[in-house]
Amino acid sequence: MGLLSEGRPLSWPETKKNAHIVHKVGIQQFLSLYHKHKDRKDTLKWGDEVEYTLLKFDDKTERVQLSLMGPHILNTLQVPENSDPVHHQSKWRPEYASFMIEGTPGATPYGGCYLHFNIVESNLKLRRQQLAEMLEGTGTEAMSLTGFARFGCPGFTTPEHDPKEDNAASLSLFFPDSAIWSGHPRYRTLTRNIRERRGDNPAINVPVFKDKHTPSPFVEEFPTDVRGTAARGALPDHIYMDCMGFGMGLSCLQVTFQACDVDEGRHLYDQLSVICPILASLAASSCIYRGMLSDLDSRMNIIEASVDDRTEEERGLKPLKEDRYVIPKSRYSSIDCYLANKDYNDKEVVYNKEAFETLKKGGVDDLLAQHIAHLFVRDPISLFAEKLKQSSDSETDHFENIQSTNWQSMRFKPPPSHDSPIGWRVEFRPLDLSLTDIENAAFVVFVVLVSRAILSFQLNFYIPMSKAEENMRRSQLRDAVNSQKFYFRKSVVPEDEEEAKDHPPQSHDHEYTEMSINTIINGKDEFPGLIPLVRMYVNSVEMDVDTRCTVLNYLRFISKKASGELMTTASWTRKFVSSHPDYKQDSVVSEKITYDLYKEMKMISNGEKPCPEVTGNLVSKSPDKYKVLDCPPPKAEK
Ligand code: GLU
Ligand code: MG
Repeated sequence: MGLLSEGRPLSWPETKKNAHIVHKVGIQQFLSLYHKHKDRKDTLKWGDEVEYTLLKFDDKTERVQLSLMGPHILNTLQVPENSDPVHHQSKWRPEYASFMIEGTPGATPYGGCYLHFNIVESNLKLRRQQLAEMLEGTGTEAMSLTGFARFGCPGFTTPEHDPKEDNAASLSLFFPDSAIWSGHPRYRTLTRNIRERRGDNPAINVPVFKDKHTPSPFVEEFPTDVRGTAARGALPDHIYMDCMGFGMGLSCLQVTFQACDVDEGRHLYDQLSVICPILASLAASSCIYRGMLSDLDSRMNIIEASVDDRTEEERGLKPLKEDRYVIPKSRYSSIDCYLANKDYNDKEVVYNKEAFETLKKGGVDDLLAQHIAHLFVRDPISLFAEKLKQSSDSETDHFENIQSTNWQSMRFKPPPSHDSPIGWRVEFRPLDLSLTDIENAAFVVFVVLVSRAILSFQLNFYIPMSKAEENMRRSQLRDAVNSQKFYFRKSVVPEDEEEAKDHPPQSHDHEYTEMSINTIINGKDEFPGLIPLVRMYVNSVEMDVDTRCTVLNYLRFISKKASGELMTTASWTRKFVSSHPDYKQDSVVSEKITYDLYKEMKMISNGEKPCPEVTGNLVSKSPDKYKVLDCPPPKAEK
């Protein structure tokens, strides 16, 4: 989760005092990166990123807790990458909480050839195996879960910690500071500074799922906190949570692309952002919070509220006096503006005016300048004393500081340094995690293939930003795949110029309509559907038989998810809970239900038990053993 600087973290008042330096130098750092790299050409590459959760099962007491072992296993996991920077097969990084750990493929990202589509799953298996070896004999399992059902319930971690005595950073009623990653001060600093900047604890209110016996209105009693004011932000009929950990303790599956140049990166950013909500609802897997069933199926809204550091003035609750902008959304949210086509940016974008002017004067075009300047309405929230003095043209920390704490559904990334071999990149970030490697591989490969189809067939997914934002809201609702419709373009293939003339250029209303996910993915009538387009792409390239077989297998899986033939992980979880003998139809997910749920999930994840309702007949066709494939780039595509 972003930049890890070494040194003494500054308090919020000190950070605030120095924010102007970060803003000023950060923009200069972007400008010099931009000029250094704006004409570079790279080859297409891509890779995935999984945030794993560590769970400890106690079969005697039938309890499962989150294990805080992450920082203890990280160094050993990193031995291969530290000892062999060229050939290591996986990379490991800290994540927000001590019960998390993040893994990516090793030194060679994918992209050189189509065979790579066939080894994503093998690498995911390898990572899971490495974690299993590391944890052997500890009773701890690493699982690809989006969240943990009993976050914030008493004793949800092992070792157990009492939040009342252990919450200096978070001031949370439920989430002890000891659950925050203990190996680096950044995470506690972020937790504290977000809260202090906001002027209160973040208020996360997730609508509770109202079952037959759920009290209505649903109102919880909370203990009084150290300030003598219990749970100020709690709303009736909601599950209330009160700190960063409830959000950033959630995990996801990310796909990062290296584009061949800055323009292709901007184009992919825009096009892929439109499919974020569609994929988010297919991958939805998190519906239980603080031991209660919620009415949401995926994680983004929760993280959004958990890091919402806007002051009352910035939230529009008080007139602007100390602060400069009313900002519509949290720093974690869906994207605000397209980067390659202004015609569809129909929402007002709040941006830092000085940053914008500096960028414009420095030769950056309006749209890119607006994008970077809109990231710069946020203050730095973690700053290290030793890193304050920075060069504008050889270092990048201040730019990275702001960039890496704007957690949007997509991220546009310049090369990381002035002399970097890495090019312009985009991150695809909306996906919840699935339980098994094969499902996660299917999602990754699908997203990459959609990106290939976008470029090969010049597909056009643009819809007005306001509609894309509304899609994101809908995508998280319970059973969104089957219950919601989404705005999507009626025609995604390059437009006939004659037809375009019939409509006034200012209005785009005739271009989109509301469609089901089934239509968007599988097609209907005139609308081709993403899977048929991806199939066309696959058929247009020279892919070996094994890889093709794997890819088609993945496509069938995504297609069935979209048609509702297969359940999402979230729907399956709801079904498991509601049919558990202990469940009282009151939305409460008890310790015993939680234990049984994760026991079942563990068996499914490890392939000891099939879960046909979620995976169908998806069986692995990719090699069991991961081997780095260093192949020449594919022949130029037509
Ligand atoms: N865990 C966060 C999420 O689920 C992402 C954190 C990161 O940027 O790495 O979206
Ligand atoms: Mg991460």
